[in-house]
Amino acid sequence: MSQIAAVSGREILDSRGNPTLAVDVELTSGIRACAEVPAGLSTGSFEAVELRDRELDRYRGLGVRQACEVIAGEIAPVLQGMESLRQCAIDHTLIELDGTPDKHRLGGNALLGVSLAVARASATELKLPLYRYLGGLSAGKIPMPLFNLINGGLHADSQIAFQEIMLHPIGISNFPDQLRAASEILFRLSVTLREKRLFFSRGDEGGIAPRINSAEKAIELLLAAAEACGYRAGNDVTVAIDCAAGSFFQDGVYDYTRFQARGRRRDRQEQIAYLEKLVRNFPVDSLEDPLAETDFSGFAELTERIGKFCQIVGDDLFVTNAQRIRRGIALHSATAVLIKPNQAGTLTETIDAITTAHANGLKTIVSHRSGDTPDDFIADLAVAVNASQFKCGAPRGAERTAKYNRLLKIAGDFQLSYATP
Ligand code: PGA
Ligand code: ZN
Repeated sequence: MSQIAAVSGREILDSRGNPTLAVDVELTSGIRACAEVPAGLSTGSFEAVELRDRELDRYRGLGVRQACEVIAGEIAPVLQGMESLRQCAIDHTLIELDGTPDKHRLGGNALLGVSLAVARASATELKLPLYRYLGGLSAGKIPMPLFNLINGGLHADSQIAFQEIMLHPIGISNFPDQLRAASEILFRLSVTLREKRLFFSRGDEGGIAPRINSAEKAIELLLAAAEACGYRAGNDVTVAIDCAAGSFFQDGVYDYTRFQARGRRRDRQEQIAYLEKLVRNFPVDSLEDPLAETDFSGFAELTERIGKFCQIVGDDLFVTNAQRIRRGIALHSATAVLIKPNQAGTLTETIDAITTAHANGLKTIVSHRSGDTPDDFIADLAVAVNASQFKCGAPRGAERTAKYNRLLKIAGDFQLSYATP
């Protein structure tokens, strides 16, 4: 078995054009692997903290040269000589070396990059596909994808407060056909919006940012485009929404005017009632972060009211943290957990969060970040852990298609089965 011979970090750019970290690992066998770290924008307050340079005259403070220095100066000397297959021990070494609850000293970005690069090097060393190395014999399902075709909130220059209006291809039985549907519907949607002269740009996750001012209109447009492509709304495809409600929540109020010119201001009970009405009136069957990131009991109330027919997903609520997930389980706050490795900061903690969710009957959705790179690690991770869903933006832009294409490859090579809704 090989040991870790070298670890180093490099500054690269993510899909928003901001700096992010790439980590290279070399084993004593000569095997090398790299992992690139994504970056969120609508981040949860309880996520692992990234180490950024804060030199305001360089990349507006977003550089990661300090994270590279930390890897060279503090992490590499400790990891050198450790057996690369001992992922758990390596991750715990990283956690202890950092020594802070939110990983701000060495940076969640530095820790995650190292953790993922080590795992990838080990899989290569064993000549196993990454998903097989991570998941062992139980890896075996391609997750149901959620395609973010209409972008709003902090991710787009549109007038929609909700961050993501996603296509949920519930009635399409296999991944290649699901991907094809998303591509066709995205194209149809672009044509329609051009015809209607609804100015649009592209959002951070590759979806369309149309000049429309309500989620209801976005849902209608999405479903109309699906129908125009021959998919039946409510049967073949439904809609999943990431409200990212924390991005327009302030002082106890969900303030839609933050993004929508004629938006409403809703208190907590009004927000719950509004969302209940929305999912009763439209084929919306998944709501992510419908309420603020601290409101475990509000989530529980919504789950109680609509959780039987609409998935309630915690993203900023849980931040891929097993402890917060356990709290949500005790309070019945959600029916699914979003999984973002860089919220946790190491692979071991990410898998711990997933295991905790699954053991308690919660579904998991493995997710990218809005600022991402063509690194496709999360596609293998989703297959490895049998996640029920996978969320990685619209099917365009190399940082998104790399991951969808990886799922295509896995599906084609190994004839795995497909997750059902
Ligand atoms: P983020 O958005 O990567 O900007 O946090 C994704 C999400 O909220 O799901
Ligand atoms: Zn989210």
